[in-house]
Amino acid sequence: MIVFDLRCERGHAFEEWFASRAEYDAKAAAAAIACPTCGDVHVTRSLSAPRINGGASAPAPAGPCGLPACAGGTCQAAMAPR
Ligand SMILES: [Zn+2]
Repeated sequence: MIVFDLRCERGHAFEEWFASRAEYDAKAAAAAIACPTCGDVHVTRSLSAPRINGGASAPAPAGPCGLPACAGGTCQAAMAPR
């Protein structure tokens, strides 16, 4: 079993359990995943991140180096000269 953090187009975040990544892909492709809050089937998978409370702005997913940019594939720390 694997859990994914999902978000609908209206911004509701929720979790769904799947047997595998392949099952998620199949259900997502078939629009078989509905938001429990509004029923929207246009859900996207968000990066799994630790629960952060009190964030005023959208939480930036942190990569292995701890910088938000790391998760976007443009890690400043990895490219910075030592
Ligand atoms: Zn929703």
